[in-house]
Amino acid sequence: MLMDLRRTAPVVSVAPLVDSFERQISYLRLSVTDRCNLRCVYCMSENMQFHSRPDLLTIEELDRLARLFIARGVKKLRITGGEPLVRKGVIELFRSLSGCLKDGSLRELTLTTNGLRLAHFAQDLAAAGVRRVNVSLDTLDPQRFAQITRGGALDKVLEGIAAAQDAGMAVKLNAVALRGVTDLEIHELIGFAHGRGMTLTLIETMPLGETGFDRTEQFLGLDALRREIGRRWTLSDVADRSGGPARYARVEQTGGLLGFITPLTQHFCGDCNRVRVTAAGMLYTCLGHEDGVDLREPMRTGASDARLHQAIGGAIAHKPEGHDFSLQGRVMPVKLVRHMSATGG
Ligand code: SAM
Ligand code: SF4
Repeated sequence: MLMDLRRTAPVVSVAPLVDSFERQISYLRLSVTDRCNLRCVYCMSENMQFHSRPDLLTIEELDRLARLFIARGVKKLRITGGEPLVRKGVIELFRSLSGCLKDGSLRELTLTTNGLRLAHFAQDLAAAGVRRVNVSLDTLDPQRFAQITRGGALDKVLEGIAAAQDAGMAVKLNAVALRGVTDLEIHELIGFAHGRGMTLTLIETMPLGETGFDRTEQFLGLDALRREIGRRWTLSDVADRSGGPARYARVEQTGGLLGFITPLTQHFCGDCNRVRVTAAGMLYTCLGHEDGVDLREPMRTGASDARLHQAIGGAIAHKPEGHDFSLQGRVMPVKLVRHMSATGG
């Protein structure tokens, strides 16, 4: 049985997390599972090895860790995975953490989802204080969707998006730029997103883990895609970057926003404000590096909050300046063994 997380101690504030490059860490992406009900071709291989259940942080452990980060100045918390909405107890976690929204220690509680189970959870999420969700959607073509996700049903995702909007949440769409997909559909995707009041963010694929597909073949640089977009739409750059990796442009014809996340063609690490904790309790301070710090083991051997704060502070002090993903000519070598779904996208 799940413990009543609403009775957990309030957040007590301690020193903010600042790395050796003077970047203040204010954003945590917390993965609640490495499992998923899809197998997107740029994210996972067909036969993935997942953590065994006892390896995953419990909902109580996730809650405790989130609060430790909030105490150190994390203001934005994104629940992710794998697919967060397949994790049992995830709504209890949202409900508990919504207390931090109410007491002002947290500014934003949000999630990234593939949308398949969003229709089912939309009302609960909204009731827990979630105001915005990111939904990953790479194509509007049902057959192509099934191919990219290895079997997913597009209509479920569309239902999920509609349910989230009906529940009062703002939806942002994320599309990974894929050659032979996004270049064919980009105008339709913009029309779809902006026609429903959603920002669309395009993301370059990153070389994280083997997927059984050639990443070089899949890769579509956003520099080229932006030129294609410019043939049909008028883009005006938006100065405010809200501290994230996306650079935004307004599409004059729709009034909507288009985001560009370009880890390969244009680095963005200089003002990185985020860290990630995996579902197994590893803290990674950079998506592009292998070294992480285990927080689960000390938690399970009785470490005090002070001891955990020390471990977190030590990891942040060593946050690398940036990732070193690169295209070698047009070739993209796999950089890390770890899949995006394992780290928490
Ligand atoms: N399952 C949820 C989803 O798909 O939104 C959350 C986890 S998923 C790992 C988070 C984001 O990472 C998704 O938007 C997905 O498209 C993106 N992603 C996965 N693998 C990637 C890769 N190799 N390069 C760039 N983005 C990737
Ligand atoms: Fe699952 Fe998200 Fe990875 Fe797709 S991108 S396989 S939905 S974790």
